[in-house]
Amino acid sequence: MFSSIISLDLVEFAHLLSFAYSDVLVALNIVGITIMTRRREQKIMKEEQVALVTGGSRGIGRAIAVELSSVGYELIITYKSDDVSAEETLDIIRSQGGMGEKVKFDVTDSTKATRRMDEILARHKNIRVLVNNAGITADGLFMTMREEDWDRVIQTTLKGFYNVTKPVIKRMARDHRGSVVSISSVSALVGNRGQSNYAAAKAGLIAASRSLASEVARFGIRVNVVAPGLIDTGMIKGAPLQKIKDIIPMARIGKPEEVAKVVRFLCSDDASYITGQVISVNGGML
Ligand code: NDP
Repeated sequence: MFSSIISLDLVEFAHLLSFAYSDVLVALNIVGITIMTRRREQKIMKEEQVALVTGGSRGIGRAIAVELSSVGYELIITYKSDDVSAEETLDIIRSQGGMGEKVKFDVTDSTKATRRMDEILARHKNIRVLVNNAGITADGLFMTMREEDWDRVIQTTLKGFYNVTKPVIKRMARDHRGSVVSISSVSALVGNRGQSNYAAAKAGLIAASRSLASEVARFGIRVNVVAPGLIDTGMIKGAPLQKIKDIIPMARIGKPEEVAKVVRFLCSDDASYITGQVISVNGGML
């Protein structure tokens, strides 16, 4: 017991010295300590920290993937069909020195999603971050809304959350660490004319996340939600922007990067005591 404490202290000591005095390393090498410290460093550096972002091909998902890559995560971006945009996201990640891969599947398709997630988890042991970002709108007044539009919006958000989060959370629970962030919307909090399907889906995402947060806190996993207001992506193409700006206190549309930075914070150790929360990024709406 006593000798193991001493050897641990020596390794720690040598490890600290190794950063400051390379010539001391030579001396320590004589007693074999350098080898031990180098091995330990290699172990630390080798450990991949993987972040998975659904809907990472475009818009907010792309900005989140790029932001997480900038702080050292290896990225897995998933998407439904837009190969070109997905590749563009990877190009940006690689151009800033990061690593990433793209995986194409529809998050609503349980069979395919399970297969793809199994493959991802087999390849990557250390998934530390999951961002449930994939989402769609199919706006229309409730009284005339087609069942298909109700279903696909709910399915993309909620079935997608189930299909992707379930396998990842099991892995995170095994590792006793991880952070899940899901992208909801201001519509979930205030309601929005013509968006009953979208508001229901995004409110469901908040409720599911809060419940999950309380289930997995004991495993060292944090689960939070970001609720953006109007953000400049393809999703808001055609929206009456001037009219909308009038109801935003900051009188402007948000940028995807402004959402991404909040997601990055929630995934970091700086947010180590935050779980089960909804953070709005909406220029002061509400
Ligand atoms: P975009 O339309 O720009 O991007 C949507 C992304 O989701 C794409 O990567 C798309 O893949 C992917 N996706 C859509 N459906 C599926 C599916 N069934 N399976 C897998 N991937 C899918 O949207 P935003 O970037 O604007 O939105 C991102 C998230 O933020 C969404 O959840 C949205 O609801 C939410 N949000 C957006 C706001 C905004 O103003 N933009 C405001 C509040 C919330 P592909 O490229 O292959 O089509």
